[in-house]
Amino acid sequence: MVAAISAARRKATVILLEHTDRVGKKILSTGNGKCNYTNKEQGLRYYRGENPAFVLPVFEQFGFEETIAFFKELGIYPKERNGYFYPASEQAAAVLDVLRMELERLGVYIVTECQIKEVKTTKKGFKITTNQENYYADKCIFACGLKAFPKSGSDGSAFSHIKALGHTFADIVPALVQLKAKQTFFKAIAGIRSDISVELYVEGKMISKDRGEVQLTEYGISGIPTFQISRYAAKALKQKKTVKAVLDFVPYMSKEELCQELEKRFLQYGEGKTCEDALVGLFQKKLIPLFLKENQISLKDKAEQLSKKKLHSLAAYCKAFSIDIIDTKGFEQAQVCAGGVKTEELCSETLESQLVSGLYFAGEVIDIDGMCGGYNLQWAWSSGYVAGMHAAQD
Ligand SMILES: Cc1cc2nc3c(=O)[nH]c(=O)nc-3n(C[C@H](O)[C@H](O)[C@H](O)COP(=O)(O)OP(=O)(O)OC[C@H]3O[C@@H](n4cnc5c(N)ncnc54)[C@H](O)[C@@H]3O)c2cc1C
Repeated sequence: MVAAISAARRKATVILLEHTDRVGKKILSTGNGKCNYTNKEQGLRYYRGENPAFVLPVFEQFGFEETIAFFKELGIYPKERNGYFYPASEQAAAVLDVLRMELERLGVYIVTECQIKEVKTTKKGFKITTNQENYYADKCIFACGLKAFPKSGSDGSAFSHIKALGHTFADIVPALVQLKAKQTFFKAIAGIRSDISVELYVEGKMISKDRGEVQLTEYGISGIPTFQISRYAAKALKQKKTVKAVLDFVPYMSKEELCQELEKRFLQYGEGKTCEDALVGLFQKKLIPLFLKENQISLKDKAEQLSKKKLHSLAAYCKAFSIDIIDTKGFEQAQVCAGGVKTEELCSETLESQLVSGLYFAGEVIDIDGMCGGYNLQWAWSSGYVAGMHAAQD
Protein backbone atom coordinates (compact mmCIF):
# COMPACT_ATOMS: atom_id res chain seq x y z
CA MET A 1 0.00 0.00 0.00
CA VAL A 2 2.80 2.43 0.80
CA ALA A 3 4.60 1.47 -2.42
CA ALA A 4 1.37 2.14 -4.32
CA ILE A 5 0.90 5.51 -2.60
CA SER A 6 4.49 6.51 -3.25
CA ALA A 7 4.28 5.62 -6.95
CA ALA A 8 0.84 7.18 -7.40
CA ARG A 9 2.01 10.44 -5.79
CA ARG A 10 4.57 10.57 -8.59
CA LYS A 11 1.77 10.36 -11.13
CA ALA A 12 2.14 6.69 -11.98
CA THR A 13 -1.01 4.74 -12.73
CA VAL A 14 -1.04 2.02 -10.11
CA ILE A 15 -2.92 -1.23 -9.86
CA LEU A 16 -2.70 -3.15 -6.58
CA LEU A 17 -3.37 -6.87 -6.90
CA GLU A 18 -4.40 -8.56 -3.65
CA HIS A 19 -5.45 -12.19 -3.43
CA THR A 20 -7.53 -11.96 -0.25
CA ASP A 21 -10.82 -10.09 0.06
CA ARG A 22 -9.19 -6.91 1.46
CA VAL A 23 -5.84 -5.18 1.58
CA GLY A 24 -3.69 -4.72 4.70
CA LYS A 25 -5.31 -7.37 6.90
CA LYS A 26 -2.14 -8.03 8.88
CA ILE A 27 -1.98 -4.42 10.07
CA LEU A 28 -5.14 -5.02 12.12
CA SER A 29 -3.34 -7.60 14.27
CA THR A 30 -0.18 -5.59 14.85
CA GLY A 31 0.87 -4.34 18.28
CA ASN A 32 -1.94 -6.26 19.97
CA GLY A 33 -4.46 -4.35 17.87
CA LYS A 34 -2.76 -1.00 18.54
CA CYS A 35 -0.13 -1.06 15.76
CA ASN A 36 3.34 -0.26 16.97
CA TYR A 37 4.17 1.40 13.65
CA THR A 38 7.73 2.54 14.36
CA ASN A 39 10.30 3.15 17.06
CA LYS A 40 12.37 6.20 17.96
CA GLU A 41 15.46 4.06 18.50
CA GLN A 42 16.76 3.18 15.07
CA GLY A 43 20.03 1.68 13.85
CA LEU A 44 21.54 -1.31 12.19
CA ARG A 45 21.42 -3.37 15.38
CA TYR A 46 17.63 -3.67 15.13
CA TYR A 47 17.70 -5.32 11.70
CA ARG A 48 18.77 -8.82 10.73
CA GLY A 49 19.37 -10.84 7.56
CA GLU A 50 22.35 -12.02 5.51
CA ASN A 51 23.29 -8.36 5.02
CA PRO A 52 21.53 -6.06 7.50
CA ALA A 53 23.39 -3.00 6.13
CA PHE A 54 21.15 -3.34 3.08
CA VAL A 55 18.55 -1.28 4.99
CA LEU A 56 20.77 1.82 5.28
CA PRO A 57 20.33 3.42 1.83
CA VAL A 58 16.58 2.80 2.13
CA PHE A 59 16.32 4.50 5.54
CA GLU A 60 18.42 7.41 4.26
CA GLN A 61 15.67 8.10 1.74
CA PHE A 62 12.68 7.33 3.97
CA GLY A 63 13.43 6.69 7.63
CA PHE A 64 11.86 7.24 11.03
CA GLU A 65 11.27 11.03 10.66
CA GLU A 66 9.74 10.63 7.21
CA THR A 67 7.50 7.83 8.50
CA ILE A 68 6.15 9.94 11.35
CA ALA A 69 5.57 12.86 8.94
CA PHE A 70 3.98 10.59 6.31
CA PHE A 71 1.47 9.15 8.75
CA LYS A 72 0.84 12.50 10.44
CA GLU A 73 -0.11 13.95 7.08
CA LEU A 74 -2.51 11.05 6.58
CA GLY A 75 -4.08 11.67 10.00
CA ILE A 76 -2.17 9.40 12.40
CA TYR A 77 -1.25 11.52 15.40
CA PRO A 78 1.75 9.79 17.00
CA LYS A 79 1.66 8.58 20.57
CA GLU A 80 4.99 7.51 22.06
CA ARG A 81 5.55 5.02 24.86
CA ASN A 82 9.21 4.27 25.75
CA GLY A 83 10.22 5.04 22.17
CA TYR A 84 7.50 2.81 20.68
CA PHE A 85 5.04 4.67 18.44
CA TYR A 86 1.31 3.98 18.15
CA PRO A 87 -1.55 5.98 16.65
CA ALA A 88 -3.07 8.30 19.29
CA SER A 89 -6.36 6.43 18.91
CA GLU A 90 -4.46 3.22 19.81
CA GLN A 91 -6.30 1.42 17.03
CA ALA A 92 -4.43 -0.46 14.34
CA ALA A 93 -7.54 -0.09 12.18
CA ALA A 94 -6.81 3.65 11.99
CA VAL A 95 -3.49 2.98 10.24
CA LEU A 96 -5.19 0.76 7.69
CA ASP A 97 -8.03 3.27 7.25
CA VAL A 98 -5.74 6.21 6.47
CA LEU A 99 -3.73 4.14 3.99
CA ARG A 100 -6.93 3.05 2.26
CA MET A 101 -8.21 6.65 2.16
CA GLU A 102 -4.96 7.81 0.56
CA LEU A 103 -5.05 4.99 -2.00
CA GLU A 104 -8.56 6.06 -2.90
CA ARG A 105 -7.65 9.76 -3.08
CA LEU A 106 -4.81 8.95 -5.46
CA GLY A 107 -7.02 6.75 -7.63
CA VAL A 108 -5.04 3.54 -7.05
CA TYR A 109 -7.06 0.75 -8.59
CA ILE A 110 -7.38 -2.13 -6.10
CA VAL A 111 -8.26 -5.60 -7.30
CA THR A 112 -9.06 -8.02 -4.46
CA GLU A 113 -9.54 -11.78 -4.67
CA CYS A 114 -7.08 -11.64 -7.51
CA GLN A 115 -5.24 -14.93 -8.00
CA ILE A 116 -2.04 -14.36 -9.92
CA LYS A 117 -1.35 -17.15 -12.37
CA GLU A 118 1.77 -15.87 -14.10
CA VAL A 119 4.09 -12.87 -14.14
CA LYS A 120 5.98 -12.66 -17.42
CA THR A 121 8.36 -10.09 -18.79
CA THR A 122 7.40 -8.56 -22.12
CA LYS A 123 9.23 -6.19 -24.48
CA LYS A 124 7.65 -3.24 -22.67
CA GLY A 125 7.48 -4.49 -19.11
CA PHE A 126 5.30 -7.16 -17.53
CA LYS A 127 2.20 -9.19 -18.28
CA ILE A 128 0.38 -10.41 -15.19
CA THR A 129 -2.13 -13.14 -15.85
CA THR A 130 -4.78 -13.52 -13.16
CA ASN A 131 -8.11 -15.25 -12.54
CA GLN A 132 -9.77 -11.93 -13.40
CA GLU A 133 -7.99 -9.92 -16.12
CA ASN A 134 -4.56 -9.79 -17.64
CA TYR A 135 -2.66 -6.71 -16.56
CA TYR A 136 0.16 -5.02 -18.43
CA ALA A 137 2.63 -2.81 -16.58
CA ASP A 138 5.92 -1.03 -17.18
CA LYS A 139 7.01 -1.83 -13.63
CA CYS A 140 6.10 -4.51 -11.12
CA ILE A 141 6.61 -4.44 -7.34
CA PHE A 142 6.31 -7.58 -5.22
CA ALA A 143 5.25 -6.70 -1.66
CA CYS A 144 3.73 -10.06 -0.84
CA GLY A 145 5.34 -10.74 2.56
CA LEU A 146 6.70 -14.20 3.39
CA LYS A 147 4.79 -16.90 5.29
CA ALA A 148 4.19 -15.48 8.77
CA PHE A 149 0.59 -15.39 10.00
CA PRO A 150 -0.70 -16.82 6.70
CA LYS A 151 -4.35 -16.23 7.57
CA SER A 152 -3.67 -12.55 6.83
CA GLY A 153 -2.76 -13.46 3.25
CA SER A 154 1.03 -13.93 3.31
CA ASP A 155 1.03 -17.60 2.40
CA GLY A 156 3.99 -17.91 0.05
CA SER A 157 1.80 -18.22 -3.02
CA ALA A 158 3.77 -15.51 -4.85
CA PHE A 159 7.12 -17.26 -4.40
CA SER A 160 6.81 -19.36 -7.55
CA HIS A 161 6.34 -16.19 -9.65
CA ILE A 162 9.38 -14.57 -8.04
CA LYS A 163 11.46 -17.70 -8.64
CA ALA A 164 10.24 -17.94 -12.23
CA LEU A 165 11.68 -14.45 -12.76
CA GLY A 166 15.08 -15.80 -11.68
CA HIS A 167 15.28 -14.74 -8.03
CA THR A 168 16.45 -16.94 -5.18
CA PHE A 169 15.55 -16.94 -1.49
CA ALA A 170 17.56 -17.13 1.72
CA ASP A 171 16.02 -19.88 3.91
CA ILE A 172 12.62 -18.82 5.21
CA VAL A 173 11.95 -19.60 8.87
CA PRO A 174 9.50 -18.25 11.44
CA ALA A 175 10.92 -15.35 13.47
CA LEU A 176 9.43 -13.39 16.38
CA VAL A 177 7.82 -16.61 17.46
CA GLN A 178 7.31 -18.74 20.57
CA LEU A 179 9.76 -21.60 21.22
CA LYS A 180 8.87 -25.18 22.12
CA ALA A 181 10.96 -26.99 24.75
CA LYS A 182 11.56 -30.71 25.23
CA GLN A 183 11.10 -30.65 29.03
CA THR A 184 7.73 -31.90 30.18
CA PHE A 185 7.70 -29.86 33.41
CA PHE A 186 6.42 -26.82 31.51
CA LYS A 187 2.86 -28.06 31.99
CA ALA A 188 3.28 -27.50 35.74
CA ILE A 189 4.68 -23.98 35.47
CA ALA A 190 2.58 -22.66 32.58
CA GLY A 191 1.11 -19.21 33.09
CA ILE A 192 4.11 -17.65 34.82
CA ARG A 193 5.31 -14.26 33.55
CA SER A 194 8.48 -12.95 35.07
CA ASP A 195 11.52 -10.75 34.54
CA ILE A 196 13.90 -13.33 33.10
CA SER A 197 17.08 -13.09 31.09
CA VAL A 198 17.33 -15.61 28.24
CA GLU A 199 20.46 -16.70 26.44
CA LEU A 200 20.32 -18.79 23.29
CA TYR A 201 23.02 -21.40 22.69
CA VAL A 202 23.55 -23.13 19.37
CA GLU A 203 25.92 -26.11 19.50
CA GLY A 204 27.11 -24.82 22.87
CA LYS A 205 27.86 -21.27 21.64
CA MET A 206 25.93 -18.25 22.90
CA ILE A 207 24.31 -16.59 19.88
CA SER A 208 21.79 -14.12 21.25
CA LYS A 209 20.34 -12.90 24.53
CA ASP A 210 17.61 -10.67 25.82
CA ARG A 211 15.91 -9.75 29.08
CA GLY A 212 12.34 -8.82 29.90
CA GLU A 213 9.01 -10.42 30.64
CA VAL A 214 9.27 -14.07 29.61
CA GLN A 215 6.10 -16.16 29.63
CA LEU A 216 6.32 -19.82 30.58
CA THR A 217 3.72 -21.80 28.71
CA GLU A 218 2.79 -25.44 28.57
CA TYR A 219 4.88 -25.97 25.44
CA GLY A 220 7.90 -23.79 26.36
CA ILE A 221 8.64 -20.05 26.32
CA SER A 222 7.01 -16.95 24.89
CA GLY A 223 7.07 -13.17 25.43
CA ILE A 224 9.20 -10.45 23.86
CA PRO A 225 12.66 -11.74 24.95
CA THR A 226 11.78 -15.12 23.43
CA PHE A 227 10.66 -13.44 20.21
CA GLN A 228 13.92 -11.49 20.00
CA ILE A 229 16.09 -14.62 20.07
CA SER A 230 13.72 -16.88 18.13
CA ARG A 231 14.95 -16.22 14.59
CA TYR A 232 18.39 -17.60 15.53
CA ALA A 233 16.79 -20.66 17.12
CA ALA A 234 14.62 -21.25 14.04
CA LYS A 235 17.59 -20.95 11.67
CA ALA A 236 19.70 -23.35 13.77
CA LEU A 237 16.87 -25.88 14.11
CA LYS A 238 16.40 -25.82 10.34
CA GLN A 239 20.09 -26.74 10.05
CA LYS A 240 19.50 -29.59 12.56
CA LYS A 241 21.77 -28.00 15.18
CA THR A 242 21.37 -28.40 18.94
CA VAL A 243 19.61 -25.42 20.46
CA LYS A 244 19.35 -24.61 24.15
CA ALA A 245 17.92 -21.65 26.01
CA VAL A 246 19.39 -20.76 29.38
CA LEU A 247 17.04 -18.81 31.63
CA ASP A 248 18.18 -16.67 34.53
CA PHE A 249 15.27 -16.33 36.96
CA VAL A 250 17.15 -13.82 39.10
CA PRO A 251 18.75 -11.45 36.55
CA TYR A 252 18.83 -8.61 39.08
CA MET A 253 21.33 -10.47 41.35
CA SER A 254 24.75 -11.97 40.71
CA LYS A 255 25.25 -15.64 41.55
CA GLU A 256 27.19 -14.67 44.67
CA GLU A 257 24.38 -12.36 45.80
CA LEU A 258 21.85 -15.12 45.25
CA CYS A 259 23.98 -17.57 47.25
CA GLN A 260 24.08 -15.06 50.12
CA GLU A 261 20.34 -14.46 49.86
CA LEU A 262 19.63 -18.21 50.01
CA GLU A 263 21.98 -18.65 52.95
CA LYS A 264 20.09 -15.91 54.78
CA ARG A 265 16.67 -17.32 53.94
CA PHE A 266 17.55 -20.92 54.82
CA LEU A 267 20.24 -20.78 57.46
CA GLN A 268 19.62 -17.46 59.21
CA TYR A 269 15.84 -16.95 59.04
CA GLY A 270 14.83 -20.52 58.24
CA GLU A 271 13.96 -21.69 61.72
CA GLY A 272 10.61 -23.47 61.73
CA LYS A 273 10.31 -23.18 57.95
CA THR A 274 10.30 -25.88 55.28
CA CYS A 275 12.48 -25.52 52.19
CA GLU A 276 9.35 -24.58 50.26
CA ASP A 277 8.50 -21.83 52.78
CA ALA A 278 12.02 -20.43 52.61
CA LEU A 279 11.65 -19.57 48.93
CA VAL A 280 8.27 -17.83 49.18
CA GLY A 281 8.61 -14.20 48.15
CA LEU A 282 11.66 -14.83 46.00
CA PHE A 283 10.18 -17.08 43.30
CA GLN A 284 6.66 -17.45 41.98
CA LYS A 285 4.92 -20.20 43.93
CA LYS A 286 4.57 -22.61 40.99
CA LEU A 287 8.32 -22.53 40.42
CA ILE A 288 9.36 -23.51 43.93
CA PRO A 289 8.45 -27.25 43.82
CA LEU A 290 10.16 -27.55 40.43
CA PHE A 291 13.36 -25.85 41.55
CA LEU A 292 13.54 -27.98 44.70
CA LYS A 293 12.67 -31.24 43.00
CA GLU A 294 15.21 -30.73 40.21
CA ASN A 295 17.84 -30.21 42.94
CA GLN A 296 16.81 -33.32 44.85
CA ILE A 297 15.55 -31.24 47.80
CA SER A 298 12.35 -32.30 49.48
CA LEU A 299 9.76 -29.53 49.88
CA LYS A 300 9.12 -30.43 53.50
CA ASP A 301 12.77 -30.67 54.62
CA LYS A 302 13.78 -28.26 57.34
CA ALA A 303 15.22 -25.11 55.75
CA GLU A 304 17.90 -24.52 58.37
CA GLN A 305 19.32 -28.02 57.85
CA LEU A 306 20.17 -27.60 54.18
CA SER A 307 23.91 -27.59 53.44
CA LYS A 308 25.62 -24.57 51.92
CA LYS A 309 26.72 -26.80 49.05
CA LYS A 310 23.08 -27.62 48.25
CA LEU A 311 22.10 -23.96 48.47
CA HIS A 312 24.89 -22.94 46.11
CA SER A 313 23.89 -25.55 43.56
CA LEU A 314 20.26 -24.36 43.87
CA ALA A 315 21.47 -20.80 43.18
CA ALA A 316 23.45 -21.97 40.15
CA TYR A 317 20.41 -23.82 38.87
CA CYS A 318 18.10 -20.77 39.12
CA LYS A 319 20.69 -18.57 37.39
CA ALA A 320 21.22 -21.03 34.53
CA PHE A 321 18.01 -22.97 33.98
CA SER A 322 18.80 -24.85 30.79
CA ILE A 323 16.09 -26.08 28.43
CA ASP A 324 16.28 -27.90 25.10
CA ILE A 325 14.58 -26.04 22.27
CA ILE A 326 13.10 -28.51 19.82
CA ASP A 327 10.87 -26.38 17.60
CA THR A 328 9.11 -23.04 17.11
CA LYS A 329 5.35 -22.50 17.10
CA GLY A 330 5.63 -22.25 13.31
CA PHE A 331 4.58 -19.83 10.60
CA GLU A 332 0.96 -19.70 11.88
CA GLN A 333 2.03 -18.06 15.14
CA ALA A 334 5.04 -16.09 13.88
CA GLN A 335 4.87 -12.32 13.64
CA VAL A 336 7.46 -12.25 10.88
CA CYS A 337 9.77 -14.55 8.96
CA ALA A 338 13.50 -14.44 8.55
CA GLY A 339 14.89 -15.08 5.07
CA GLY A 340 13.46 -14.01 1.73
CA VAL A 341 14.65 -12.67 -1.61
CA LYS A 342 18.44 -12.40 -1.43
CA THR A 343 19.58 -8.81 -1.02
CA GLU A 344 22.61 -9.40 -3.28
CA GLU A 345 20.14 -9.72 -6.17
CA LEU A 346 18.68 -6.25 -5.52
CA CYS A 347 19.93 -2.69 -5.78
CA SER A 348 19.94 -1.29 -2.24
CA GLU A 349 19.30 2.31 -3.42
CA THR A 350 16.20 1.59 -5.49
CA LEU A 351 15.12 -1.95 -4.49
CA GLU A 352 15.06 -2.82 -8.17
CA SER A 353 16.03 -6.32 -9.20
CA GLN A 354 19.53 -6.69 -10.60
CA LEU A 355 18.24 -9.56 -12.71
CA VAL A 356 15.07 -8.15 -14.26
CA SER A 357 14.79 -4.52 -15.20
CA GLY A 358 11.62 -2.83 -13.88
CA LEU A 359 11.03 -5.44 -11.17
CA TYR A 360 11.06 -4.22 -7.55
CA PHE A 361 10.61 -5.70 -4.07
CA ALA A 362 9.40 -4.20 -0.81
CA GLY A 363 8.77 -5.32 2.76
CA GLU A 364 9.20 -8.65 4.42
CA VAL A 365 9.67 -10.55 1.15
CA ILE A 366 13.22 -9.14 1.12
CA ASP A 367 15.75 -10.96 3.33
CA ILE A 368 15.50 -8.42 6.17
CA ASP A 369 13.72 -8.97 9.47
CA GLY A 370 13.52 -6.53 12.33
CA MET A 371 13.48 -6.98 16.07
CA CYS A 372 10.21 -6.71 17.95
CA GLY A 373 9.30 -3.05 18.61
CA GLY A 374 8.01 -1.45 15.40
CA TYR A 375 11.01 -2.36 13.25
CA ASN A 376 9.23 -4.68 10.84
CA LEU A 377 6.57 -2.18 9.94
CA GLN A 378 9.25 0.50 9.67
CA TRP A 379 11.04 -1.68 7.12
CA ALA A 380 7.76 -2.31 5.28
CA TRP A 381 6.90 1.42 5.10
CA SER A 382 10.44 2.51 4.18
CA SER A 383 11.12 -0.12 1.57
CA GLY A 384 7.61 0.32 0.14
CA TYR A 385 8.03 4.05 -0.17
CA VAL A 386 11.48 3.76 -1.78
CA ALA A 387 10.47 1.00 -4.22
CA GLY A 388 7.33 2.93 -5.25
CA MET A 389 9.28 6.14 -5.68
CA HIS A 390 11.96 4.61 -7.91
CA ALA A 391 9.53 2.49 -9.87
CA ALA A 392 7.58 5.66 -10.75
CA GLN A 393 10.62 7.91 -11.31
CA ASP A 394 12.69 5.56 -13.38
C1 LIG B 1 0.28 -10.69 15.07
C2 LIG B 1 1.30 -9.76 14.47
C3 LIG B 1 1.65 -8.61 15.16
C4 LIG B 1 2.62 -7.74 14.62
N1 LIG B 1 2.90 -6.59 15.27
C5 LIG B 1 3.81 -5.73 14.75
C6 LIG B 1 4.04 -4.46 15.35
O1 LIG B 1 3.36 -4.05 16.30
N2 LIG B 1 5.03 -3.68 14.82
C7 LIG B 1 5.76 -4.07 13.72
O2 LIG B 1 6.64 -3.33 13.30
N3 LIG B 1 5.51 -5.24 13.10
C8 LIG B 1 4.54 -6.06 13.56
N4 LIG B 1 4.26 -7.22 12.90
C9 LIG B 1 5.00 -7.53 11.64
C10 LIG B 1 4.43 -6.72 10.46
O3 LIG B 1 3.03 -6.80 10.47
C11 LIG B 1 4.97 -7.25 9.12
O4 LIG B 1 6.37 -7.25 9.17
C12 LIG B 1 4.49 -6.39 7.96
O5 LIG B 1 3.08 -6.43 7.88
C13 LIG B 1 5.09 -6.86 6.64
O6 LIG B 1 4.52 -6.08 5.63
P1 LIG B 1 4.52 -6.56 4.11
O7 LIG B 1 3.69 -5.57 3.37
O8 LIG B 1 5.88 -6.83 3.65
O9 LIG B 1 3.78 -7.97 4.12
P2 LIG B 1 2.30 -8.37 4.61
O10 LIG B 1 1.81 -7.42 5.64
O11 LIG B 1 2.36 -9.81 4.92
O12 LIG B 1 1.41 -8.12 3.32
C14 LIG B 1 1.54 -8.92 2.16
C15 LIG B 1 0.29 -8.75 1.33
O13 LIG B 1 0.49 -9.44 0.09
C16 LIG B 1 -0.65 -10.25 -0.16
N5 LIG B 1 -0.23 -11.41 -0.98
C17 LIG B 1 0.59 -12.42 -0.60
N6 LIG B 1 0.72 -13.30 -1.63
C18 LIG B 1 -0.04 -12.83 -2.65
C19 LIG B 1 -0.31 -13.31 -3.96
N7 LIG B 1 0.21 -14.45 -4.43
N8 LIG B 1 -1.13 -12.57 -4.74
C20 LIG B 1 -1.68 -11.41 -4.29
N9 LIG B 1 -1.47 -10.92 -3.06
C21 LIG B 1 -0.65 -11.63 -2.25
C22 LIG B 1 -1.15 -10.65 1.21
O14 LIG B 1 -2.49 -11.08 1.18
C23 LIG B 1 -0.94 -9.37 1.99
O15 LIG B 1 -2.03 -8.49 1.84
C24 LIG B 1 3.27 -8.08 13.38
C25 LIG B 1 2.88 -9.22 12.69
C26 LIG B 1 1.91 -10.06 13.23
C27 LIG B 1 1.50 -11.28 12.46
